[in-house]
Amino acid sequence: MSGVNQIRTTFLDFFSRNGHEKVASSPLVPLNDPTLMFTNAGMVQFKNVFTGFEKRHYARATSAQKCMRAGGKHNDLDNVGYTARHLTFFEMLGNFSFGDYFKEGAIELAWTLVSRELGLPRERLLVTVYHDDDEAYGLWKKIAGFSDDRIIRIASSDNFWSMGDLGPCGPCSEIFYDQGESVAGGPPGSPDEDGDRFLEFWNLVFMQYDQTAPGERVPLPRPSIDTGMGLERIAALLQGVHSVFDIDLFRRLTGAVADATGVDAAGPQAASHRVIADHLRASAFLVADGVTPSNEGRGYVLRRIMRRAMRHAQLLGAAEPLMHRLVGALVTEMAQAYPELTRAERLIRDTLLTEETRFRQTLARGLAILDEETATLAQGGSLSGETAFKLYDTYGFPLDLTEDALRSRGLSVDKAGFETAMARQRAEARKAWAGSGETATESVWFAIEERVGATEFLGYDTEKSEGIV
Ligand code: ATP
Ligand code: MG
Ligand code: MG
Ligand code: MG
Repeated sequence: MSGVNQIRTTFLDFFSRNGHEKVASSPLVPLNDPTLMFTNAGMVQFKNVFTGFEKRHYARATSAQKCMRAGGKHNDLDNVGYTARHLTFFEMLGNFSFGDYFKEGAIELAWTLVSRELGLPRERLLVTVYHDDDEAYGLWKKIAGFSDDRIIRIASSDNFWSMGDLGPCGPCSEIFYDQGESVAGGPPGSPDEDGDRFLEFWNLVFMQYDQTAPGERVPLPRPSIDTGMGLERIAALLQGVHSVFDIDLFRRLTGAVADATGVDAAGPQAASHRVIADHLRASAFLVADGVTPSNEGRGYVLRRIMRRAMRHAQLLGAAEPLMHRLVGALVTEMAQAYPELTRAERLIRDTLLTEETRFRQTLARGLAILDEETATLAQGGSLSGETAFKLYDTYGFPLDLTEDALRSRGLSVDKAGFETAMARQRAEARKAWAGSGETATESVWFAIEERVGATEFLGYDTEKSEGIV
């Protein structure tokens, strides 16, 4: 059975043998790209190479890229622990052609890797193409020998990629694996496609056009290729398990959670083990890349992730801070591929311990309030916005933590009420400033704050355009 570390190497070596330069992962905080909260795909570090703005000494590259999809346009945070395929932090394996090979080369390489090198059975595989991409359709038929029912035409934006409102764009083709009838879910494009039976594991993007103005697209003189395969997802397929949380790496991490808490990782509380394992990776890699917990922007996304994990530690009955005790297990699993984990190990432990020690002072009290306030609510009911705001403001509960806490009981939060309470508090704070004989600087500050919104919420969806696979 191939472990995660071996699969990563197999992928990179395959493309290296086929003329691709091995390029190291870039940091999770994108360099020179303020429009993007976190690196969320392998192509991010190559954006300027695709547009021709930057030249490299190679025309083909391959990488294993650290990605975060929490905060920003691609936010999988609420899925984690509840679907079998979403993580907040994951690795994206990719191959890239900068005006070198195009559709035929990309499909040929992908097919050789998947069917020969990795040995996935052809009868389990199917692909999607963009609805009018007859060329990709024909190439899959020719190269993989797929029958028509294995090549699904999709018209949605899922199968059309663009870098932003303007710039390179083009159709995608995605590779899916049928995990069998025992898993719920329908084929791509069907109403129940969100199930896990048909697992998407590789996205091939054919950068074919340049969007020069709204509604105006011209062919790129040298079309390019950008692909992204989730390492944890391909590992699940190769290891014959249905969930990314059952691959070798995650079993050892959830096992470490079980050892530290004495709660079985395969028991009824398994979702907590999964959330903790995922959030441990996300937190550790963010800290290693220089993010510190704070109340705004990237730091607030980190804080939210840490605090969510800490609530789950509490659910498992941890009487002392837990997260910092798991860092060693993570380093054992991943530091060979990512030595920054070893360099930052001490800082990661200290950050987790400080944050958890502080949060534990209000966590239990906040959870007790949450229980009191929801004791009489029936399924489908919602917590008042006032209470959610009090938990946020006084007890340090990020809104998504409260929502996560209510989820298992079939309850939600009155979000509009939460926003109103937030706005009222801001208005009162402003009045207080005015009453204290405010200075010019203070009024400018409030004007800015109003214009950009509450800084705490920068994490949700402030980005307009993102480069994603
Ligand atoms: P999904 O539809 O499952 O949410 P996606 O279409 O958003 O995936 P892409 O943007 O196409 O994903 O990213 C390329 C690949 O990266 C995916 O095919 C998948 O293997 C992997 N991937 C994407 N999001 C995640 C995630 N949250 N956790 C783990 N792997 C992921
Ligand atoms: Mg997605
Ligand atoms: Mg998808
Ligand atoms: Mg996709």
